[in-house]
Amino acid sequence: MKVVGAYFLEDKLNIYMFFLSLILSFVCCNLCCADNATLVTQQRQMLHTYVEIKAYGDNASAAIDAAFNEMERVNSLLNNYDPASEISQINNNAGGNAVTISPETVEALQTALKFCKLSGGALDITIGPLVRLWGFTQEIPSMKGAGPDSHEIQKARQLVDYQSLQVLQDMQGGPGTARLAKKGMWVDVGSFSKGYCADKAIAVLKKYGINNALVAAGGTINAIGKKADGSQWKVAVRHPRKEDDFMTFVPLCDASISTSGDYERFYMKNGKRKGHIIDPHTGKPVDRMQSVSVVAASGLESDLLSTTLFVLGPVNGMRLIDSLPGTSALLVSYDGKLGISKKWPVKTVIY
Ligand code: AMP
Ligand code: MG
Repeated sequence: MKVVGAYFLEDKLNIYMFFLSLILSFVCCNLCCADNATLVTQQRQMLHTYVEIKAYGDNASAAIDAAFNEMERVNSLLNNYDPASEISQINNNAGGNAVTISPETVEALQTALKFCKLSGGALDITIGPLVRLWGFTQEIPSMKGAGPDSHEIQKARQLVDYQSLQVLQDMQGGPGTARLAKKGMWVDVGSFSKGYCADKAIAVLKKYGINNALVAAGGTINAIGKKADGSQWKVAVRHPRKEDDFMTFVPLCDASISTSGDYERFYMKNGKRKGHIIDPHTGKPVDRMQSVSVVAASGLESDLLSTTLFVLGPVNGMRLIDSLPGTSALLVSYDGKLGISKKWPVKTVIY
C-alpha cells in the first residue's frame, strides 16, 4: 500500500512535494510481529517537506517523538534559511571571524567537504550564490526577465569554492569552528541536511531500543532492521516523468537511499527546464539528468552522493559510484536512458 493518508490529502502542494521525492511503498500485510510489537507510524511537516517515521517496538511512540525532536534540533543548527542557525552564522561572518559550531555541524560539514573534494568540485556546498542567482532561494523558484547573463554568472561563480570553507575541530567528536574566506560566500546545506537529519533520527530510535524502523525525510529514506513478517523494507523509486509510477522497488536494510531529480524544484524558461541543482563549473542548472538514486550506508552519504552524481552525469557519475565501496546508483539521463551501477540491488528497472 502506498503511504497516502487523509493527512496528506489536505495539502495538494505538499502531496506534490512528497511524491516528488521518493515514494514509499510498504507491503504492510502484517501489522503485528510475532512478539506482538505493533507498527507505529507518524508524520510531521518539517524540513520543508513531510517526514515519516515507522517503528516497531513497545516504546515506539515515545521513540518516534524523540526522533522527530532530534531532527528539529539538528535542522535548527544546519538550516541556512534560519537566521539563527549555525550555518547562517558562518554565512553572515563570511570574510570575517571564524564561528563556533557544534559537533553535529562539524561532522556534517567535514563529511560534505570530503565529497566535494572526491567529486572534483561537482558537489560544492558553497553553491549558495548560484542557487540565489538562479531564483531557487524563493519559496516558488522562478526567474524574471532573460535570466542571469554571463557576467553575473561569473561573478557568482567566484564566490563558490568549497576549498575556501575552513572547518576545524580540536578533538574528535567535539565542537569546532568554521569560516568562509570571502564576504558574499554562502554555504547551502540543501544537498545533505535531510539525509543527516534522517541519520540522527535513526540514532535516537536505536537509543530507545528500536531495531526495526524507517525514516523518510524528503528524498532520503533510511531503514534499519526488517518488517514484522521478517521481510525487508522496500522502497519505491518514482519515475522521474510520471508522478504516480515507480521504476523499481529497492530492498533496504541498515542502509539509506536518496533521490535527486530535475522534477523536484524547477521552472520553465523559454521552453527549457531549469532545475535546482547547479553545476559549479558552468554556473548553470544541470540539464543532463532526470534523476539519480543512490544507496549508501548512511543518509548523509546517500544524500551527498545523489546530488554529486546528478552534477557529474551518467559517465563520470557511474565511474565514481562504482569506485566507492558499499554504494550503488540508478541514473536516468535527460534523454531517458538508464544507468544501473554494478552493485545496484535490483536488476528489474522499468522506465
Ligand atoms: P538534493 O535534492 O539532495 O539533490 O539537493 C539539491 C539542493 O542542493 C539544491 O536545492 C541546492 O540547495 C543544493 N545544490 C544545488 N547544486 C549543488 C551543487 N552543485 N553542490 C551542492 N549543493 C547543491
Ligand atoms: Mg542530496
